[in-house]
Amino acid sequence: AAKRAGKNQLSFYSMAMQQQALYSIRIEEELRLALARSEFALVFQPIVALGNGQTVKFEALLRWNQPERGIQHPASFIEIAELTGLIVPIGYWVVDAACRFIQQQRQSGRAVKPVAVNVSVCQLREAEFAHRVEALLTRWGIPPGSLELEITESMLMENVSLAMTQIDRLKRLGIRISIDDFGTGYSSLSQLRQLQVNSLKIDRSFVMDLENSPVDRQMIEAITAMVRKLDLKVVAEGIETEQQMQFLKQIGCDYGQGFLFARPLSPEQALQYTGHADLAVSRQAPHDDRLR
Ligand code: C2E
Ligand code: MG
Ligand code: MG
Ligand code: MG
Repeated sequence: AAKRAGKNQLSFYSMAMQQQALYSIRIEEELRLALARSEFALVFQPIVALGNGQTVKFEALLRWNQPERGIQHPASFIEIAELTGLIVPIGYWVVDAACRFIQQQRQSGRAVKPVAVNVSVCQLREAEFAHRVEALLTRWGIPPGSLELEITESMLMENVSLAMTQIDRLKRLGIRISIDDFGTGYSSLSQLRQLQVNSLKIDRSFVMDLENSPVDRQMIEAITAMVRKLDLKVVAEGIETEQQMQFLKQIGCDYGQGFLFARPLSPEQALQYTGHADLAVSRQAPHDDRLR
């Protein structure tokens, strides 16, 4: 009976694998068409200064409006896009759409807040990547300082010399660079210093449990202290509670991003969003307990 169960289990797994493979092929075909059919969209999540609640920049996050299955988040398709190389053309589309949002900000008459765009390591393998990003900025007439590129720490460490070469080119153009999901990879202090990035984002996994985990709190404190010594800005990702925000603010973390402040917003909503009211109010009226 045990043998039979084992056999069943095996065929169950191989069926699941087959289904997974078929699913991947289907997604790949659909992704190929998605660009031509304008099914992609960007949403923009505010990054706020923990000191006063003001929005300092936005992160652009990709969404795929798949006609049959509805809005898809990157978790369901980015990996396939990376494996098939489709992330390269999609990535240029993302930069272009981020430029459009910067242009919309300009037309709204308010001061332009920079937009951060996520970049996969496959995009950095393109020799002409920096050049093409520059061409997009020029076409929109957008100052390079309004664009930031986020590269995950683990991707940076996959190919340090490639990353350094590309980051160097991008920085010469005036584009800002930040390290995403920091704390999950294995970069060293000297590599960080050499990389010359502008900011660093502490991964959500450390923020998530900080109320209950002294180890996570120590980790965040250590990263923040180190990053500030290097004269970089620190952003904490995935802030969902008031307590998390208070802790991060208290240890000197510059910026925060998370559902506590705002979910990713449509371009129209993002243009309306000015900042996190509670932080601004608590600065003006720290005695008002109802707001804490
Ligand atoms: P990321 O760059 O670390 O982006 C942050 C993710 O955390 C986003 O998920 C965001 O919606 C989510 N998030 C923000 N605040 C909170 C919070 O308070 N709680 C929780 N639970 N989640 C929060 P999203 O949009 O699903 O994106 C997932 C990942 O997909 C991104 O992680 C990024 O690595 C990748 N990605 C997104 N857009 C692009 C893109 O245009 N190109 C590439 N190559 N990758 C992208
Ligand atoms: Mg990111
Ligand atoms: Mg991140
Ligand atoms: Mg993350």
